[in-house]
Amino acid sequence: MKITFLGTGTSQGIPLIGCQCVVCKSIDSRDKRTRTSVMIEVGGKNFVIDSGPDFRQQMLREDVRLLDALLFTHEHKDHIAGLDDVRAFNFIQKKAMPVYATERVQNAIKREFAYIFDGTNYPGIPKIDLHNIINEPFEAEGIPVMPIEVSHHMLPVLGFRIGKFSYITDANYISEKEKEKIFGSDVLVLNALRREEHISHFTLTQALQLIDELKPKKAFLIHISHQMGLHAEVEKELSENVSIAYDGLKVTF
Ligand SMILES: [Zn+2]
Ligand SMILES: [Zn+2]
Ligand SMILES: [Zn+2]
Repeated sequence: MKITFLGTGTSQGIPLIGCQCVVCKSIDSRDKRTRTSVMIEVGGKNFVIDSGPDFRQQMLREDVRLLDALLFTHEHKDHIAGLDDVRAFNFIQKKAMPVYATERVQNAIKREFAYIFDGTNYPGIPKIDLHNIINEPFEAEGIPVMPIEVSHHMLPVLGFRIGKFSYITDANYISEKEKEKIFGSDVLVLNALRREEHISHFTLTQALQLIDELKPKKAFLIHISHQMGLHAEVEKELSENVSIAYDGLKVTF
Protein backbone atom coordinates (compact mmCIF):
# COMPACT_ATOMS: atom_id res chain seq x y z
CA MET A 1 0.00 0.00 0.00
CA LYS A 2 1.24 3.47 -0.85
CA ILE A 3 -0.08 6.67 0.71
CA THR A 4 0.53 10.12 -0.76
CA PHE A 5 -0.34 13.13 1.35
CA LEU A 6 -1.94 15.38 -1.25
CA GLY A 7 -2.70 18.17 1.23
CA THR A 8 -2.12 18.57 4.97
CA GLY A 9 -3.47 22.03 5.75
CA THR A 10 -6.57 23.20 7.56
CA SER A 11 -9.51 24.81 5.74
CA GLN A 12 -7.68 28.04 4.85
CA GLY A 13 -4.45 26.30 3.80
CA ILE A 14 -1.00 27.67 4.64
CA PRO A 15 -0.04 30.40 3.91
CA LEU A 16 -3.31 32.16 4.76
CA ILE A 17 -4.28 35.03 2.52
CA GLY A 18 -2.78 38.23 3.97
CA CYS A 19 -1.07 36.58 6.98
CA GLN A 20 2.43 37.79 7.87
CA CYS A 21 3.21 35.21 10.59
CA VAL A 22 6.48 33.25 10.62
CA VAL A 23 4.75 30.05 9.44
CA CYS A 24 2.94 31.73 6.54
CA LYS A 25 6.21 33.50 5.59
CA SER A 26 8.36 30.34 6.01
CA ILE A 27 10.54 29.31 3.05
CA ASP A 28 10.46 25.65 4.17
CA SER A 29 8.34 23.87 1.55
CA ARG A 30 6.86 21.69 4.33
CA ASP A 31 5.18 24.82 5.72
CA LYS A 32 3.19 25.25 2.50
CA ARG A 33 0.04 23.23 3.05
CA THR A 34 -2.82 22.76 0.61
CA ARG A 35 -6.18 21.58 1.89
CA THR A 36 -6.24 18.11 3.47
CA SER A 37 -6.58 15.10 1.19
CA VAL A 38 -4.81 11.76 0.73
CA MET A 39 -4.27 9.33 -2.14
CA ILE A 40 -4.16 5.59 -1.49
CA GLU A 41 -2.74 3.05 -3.93
CA VAL A 42 -3.92 -0.40 -2.90
CA GLY A 43 -4.59 -3.67 -4.74
CA GLY A 44 -4.00 -2.04 -8.12
CA LYS A 45 -6.57 0.70 -7.39
CA ASN A 46 -6.02 4.39 -6.82
CA PHE A 47 -8.34 6.20 -4.41
CA VAL A 48 -8.47 9.78 -3.17
CA ILE A 49 -10.17 10.73 0.09
CA ASP A 50 -11.87 14.14 -0.30
CA SER A 51 -11.43 16.57 -3.21
CA GLY A 52 -10.86 19.97 -1.66
CA PRO A 53 -10.27 23.33 -3.35
CA ASP A 54 -6.68 22.30 -4.23
CA PHE A 55 -7.63 18.98 -5.88
CA ARG A 56 -6.58 20.11 -9.38
CA GLN A 57 -3.15 21.34 -8.25
CA GLN A 58 -2.64 18.19 -6.18
CA MET A 59 -3.44 15.92 -9.14
CA LEU A 60 -1.03 17.92 -11.34
CA ARG A 61 1.73 18.01 -8.71
CA GLU A 62 1.59 14.23 -8.21
CA ASP A 63 1.14 13.55 -11.95
CA VAL A 64 -1.96 11.43 -11.28
CA ARG A 65 -3.21 9.94 -14.55
CA LEU A 66 -5.81 7.52 -13.29
CA LEU A 67 -8.27 7.67 -10.41
CA ASP A 68 -10.53 4.74 -9.57
CA ALA A 69 -12.75 6.40 -6.95
CA LEU A 70 -13.28 9.29 -4.57
CA LEU A 71 -14.30 8.71 -0.95
CA PHE A 72 -15.78 11.60 1.04
CA THR A 73 -15.43 12.12 4.79
CA HIS A 74 -17.87 15.03 5.12
CA GLU A 75 -19.33 17.95 3.21
CA HIS A 76 -17.28 20.93 4.43
CA LYS A 77 -16.06 23.01 1.49
CA ASP A 78 -12.38 22.32 2.19
CA HIS A 79 -13.17 18.64 1.49
CA ILE A 80 -15.49 18.79 -1.54
CA ALA A 81 -14.83 22.06 -3.45
CA GLY A 82 -12.61 20.47 -6.12
CA LEU A 83 -15.10 17.86 -7.28
CA ASP A 84 -15.69 19.56 -10.65
CA ASP A 85 -12.14 18.68 -11.73
CA VAL A 86 -12.89 14.94 -11.89
CA ARG A 87 -13.93 15.89 -15.45
CA ALA A 88 -10.29 15.34 -16.46
CA PHE A 89 -10.54 11.72 -15.35
CA ASN A 90 -13.96 11.33 -17.00
CA PHE A 91 -12.37 12.30 -20.32
CA ILE A 92 -9.31 10.06 -19.92
CA GLN A 93 -11.12 7.04 -18.44
CA LYS A 94 -14.30 7.47 -20.53
CA LYS A 95 -16.54 6.69 -17.57
CA ALA A 96 -18.26 8.30 -14.62
CA MET A 97 -16.21 8.72 -11.43
CA PRO A 98 -17.36 6.41 -8.61
CA VAL A 99 -17.96 8.56 -5.51
CA TYR A 100 -18.58 6.98 -2.09
CA ALA A 101 -20.38 9.13 0.47
CA THR A 102 -23.13 9.02 3.06
CA GLU A 103 -26.61 10.19 2.11
CA ARG A 104 -26.14 13.48 3.99
CA VAL A 105 -22.87 14.20 2.18
CA GLN A 106 -24.43 13.23 -1.16
CA ASN A 107 -27.25 15.69 -0.53
CA ALA A 108 -24.72 18.45 0.15
CA ILE A 109 -22.81 17.56 -3.03
CA LYS A 110 -26.09 17.71 -4.99
CA ARG A 111 -26.75 21.19 -3.57
CA GLU A 112 -23.22 22.51 -4.09
CA PHE A 113 -22.89 21.06 -7.59
CA ALA A 114 -26.53 21.31 -8.68
CA TYR A 115 -25.58 21.64 -12.36
CA ILE A 116 -24.17 18.09 -12.31
CA PHE A 117 -27.37 16.57 -11.01
CA ASP A 118 -30.18 18.75 -12.44
CA GLY A 119 -30.87 16.30 -15.29
CA THR A 120 -30.03 18.73 -18.11
CA ASN A 121 -26.78 16.83 -18.83
CA TYR A 122 -25.14 20.07 -19.98
CA PRO A 123 -22.18 19.27 -22.26
CA GLY A 124 -18.87 18.93 -20.39
CA ILE A 125 -20.24 18.58 -16.86
CA PRO A 126 -18.55 16.07 -14.56
CA LYS A 127 -19.90 12.52 -14.63
CA ILE A 128 -20.39 11.25 -11.09
CA ASP A 129 -21.52 7.78 -10.06
CA LEU A 130 -22.76 8.15 -6.46
CA HIS A 131 -22.51 5.15 -4.11
CA ASN A 132 -24.32 5.36 -0.81
CA ILE A 133 -22.38 4.28 2.26
CA ILE A 134 -23.33 3.99 5.91
CA ASN A 135 -21.19 3.17 8.94
CA GLU A 136 -20.80 -0.45 7.79
CA PRO A 137 -18.01 -2.19 5.86
CA PHE A 138 -18.26 -1.73 2.09
CA GLU A 139 -16.23 -2.39 -1.02
CA ALA A 140 -14.88 0.48 -3.11
CA GLU A 141 -14.14 -0.90 -6.57
CA GLY A 142 -13.56 -4.32 -4.99
CA ILE A 143 -11.33 -3.07 -2.13
CA PRO A 144 -12.74 -3.64 1.40
CA VAL A 145 -13.17 -0.39 3.34
CA MET A 146 -14.25 0.02 6.98
CA PRO A 147 -15.79 3.40 7.82
CA ILE A 148 -14.98 4.86 11.25
CA GLU A 149 -17.56 7.35 12.48
CA VAL A 150 -16.06 10.24 14.43
CA SER A 151 -17.43 13.57 15.69
CA HIS A 152 -16.43 16.97 14.32
CA HIS A 153 -18.18 19.09 16.98
CA MET A 154 -21.85 18.16 16.19
CA LEU A 155 -21.20 16.72 12.74
CA PRO A 156 -20.67 12.98 12.16
CA VAL A 157 -17.64 12.52 9.89
CA LEU A 158 -16.35 9.29 8.40
CA GLY A 159 -12.79 8.12 8.75
CA PHE A 160 -11.74 5.06 6.78
CA ARG A 161 -9.71 1.95 7.48
CA ILE A 162 -8.26 0.07 4.52
CA GLY A 163 -6.11 -2.90 5.54
CA LYS A 164 -3.64 -1.66 8.14
CA PHE A 165 -4.19 2.00 7.24
CA SER A 166 -6.55 4.24 9.25
CA TYR A 167 -7.40 7.81 8.24
CA ILE A 168 -9.20 10.29 10.49
CA THR A 169 -9.59 13.92 9.45
CA ASP A 170 -11.77 16.64 11.03
CA ALA A 171 -12.59 15.14 14.42
CA ASN A 172 -12.46 16.06 18.07
CA TYR A 173 -14.07 12.90 19.47
CA ILE A 174 -13.94 9.17 18.75
CA SER A 175 -16.17 6.79 20.71
CA GLU A 176 -14.71 3.69 22.35
CA LYS A 177 -16.65 1.52 19.88
CA GLU A 178 -15.15 3.27 16.87
CA LYS A 179 -11.65 3.22 18.41
CA GLU A 180 -11.85 -0.59 18.26
CA LYS A 181 -11.69 -0.33 14.47
CA ILE A 182 -8.39 1.57 14.61
CA PHE A 183 -6.42 -0.79 16.88
CA GLY A 184 -3.76 -2.80 15.03
CA SER A 185 -3.11 -0.12 12.41
CA ASP A 186 0.37 0.08 10.93
CA VAL A 187 -0.27 3.66 9.89
CA LEU A 188 -2.75 6.06 11.51
CA VAL A 189 -3.38 9.51 10.06
CA LEU A 190 -5.06 11.85 12.52
CA ASN A 191 -6.04 15.52 12.54
CA ALA A 192 -4.27 17.88 14.95
CA LEU A 193 -5.20 21.48 14.24
CA ARG A 194 -3.05 23.48 16.68
CA ARG A 195 -2.00 23.64 20.32
CA GLU A 196 -4.93 25.64 21.71
CA GLU A 197 -8.35 24.07 22.30
CA HIS A 198 -10.71 24.07 19.34
CA ILE A 199 -14.42 23.34 19.15
CA SER A 200 -14.25 20.77 16.32
CA HIS A 201 -10.65 19.52 15.97
CA PHE A 202 -8.18 17.61 18.15
CA THR A 203 -5.34 19.70 19.53
CA LEU A 204 -1.75 18.47 19.29
CA THR A 205 -1.88 17.19 22.88
CA GLN A 206 -5.22 15.41 22.35
CA ALA A 207 -3.97 13.80 19.14
CA LEU A 208 -0.77 12.58 20.81
CA GLN A 209 -2.78 11.12 23.72
CA LEU A 210 -5.01 9.29 21.27
CA ILE A 211 -2.00 7.95 19.36
CA ASP A 212 -0.58 6.63 22.67
CA GLU A 213 -3.87 4.87 23.29
CA LEU A 214 -4.41 3.47 19.77
CA LYS A 215 -0.77 2.39 19.36
CA PRO A 216 -0.28 2.42 15.58
CA LYS A 217 3.25 1.55 14.44
CA LYS A 218 3.45 5.03 12.91
CA ALA A 219 1.18 8.08 13.09
CA PHE A 220 1.00 11.19 10.91
CA LEU A 221 -0.72 14.44 11.82
CA ILE A 222 -2.79 16.38 9.28
CA HIS A 223 -5.21 19.34 8.92
CA ILE A 224 -2.59 21.64 10.36
CA SER A 225 -3.18 25.33 11.14
CA HIS A 226 -0.51 28.05 10.88
CA GLN A 227 -1.02 28.39 14.64
CA MET A 228 0.73 25.01 15.14
CA GLY A 229 4.14 26.52 14.44
CA LEU A 230 6.96 25.80 12.01
CA HIS A 231 7.06 22.22 10.71
CA ALA A 232 10.74 21.78 11.64
CA GLU A 233 10.17 23.04 15.21
CA VAL A 234 7.07 20.93 15.92
CA GLU A 235 8.66 17.82 14.42
CA LYS A 236 11.50 18.09 16.98
CA GLU A 237 8.99 17.77 19.85
CA LEU A 238 7.47 14.53 18.56
CA SER A 239 8.49 10.98 19.41
CA GLU A 240 9.93 8.69 16.76
CA ASN A 241 6.61 7.04 15.87
CA VAL A 242 4.79 10.35 15.21
CA SER A 243 5.39 12.86 12.41
CA ILE A 244 3.64 15.89 11.09
CA ALA A 245 2.78 15.04 7.50
CA TYR A 246 3.60 17.49 4.73
CA ASP A 247 2.29 17.92 1.21
CA GLY A 248 3.82 15.38 -1.15
CA LEU A 249 5.00 13.01 1.60
CA LYS A 250 4.75 9.37 0.49
CA VAL A 251 4.60 6.36 2.76
CA THR A 252 4.83 2.76 1.53
CA PHE A 253 4.09 -0.13 3.89
ZN1 LIG B 1 -11.52 20.26 7.11
ZN1 LIG C 1 -0.02 32.78 9.35
ZN1 LIG D 1 -14.69 19.93 8.51
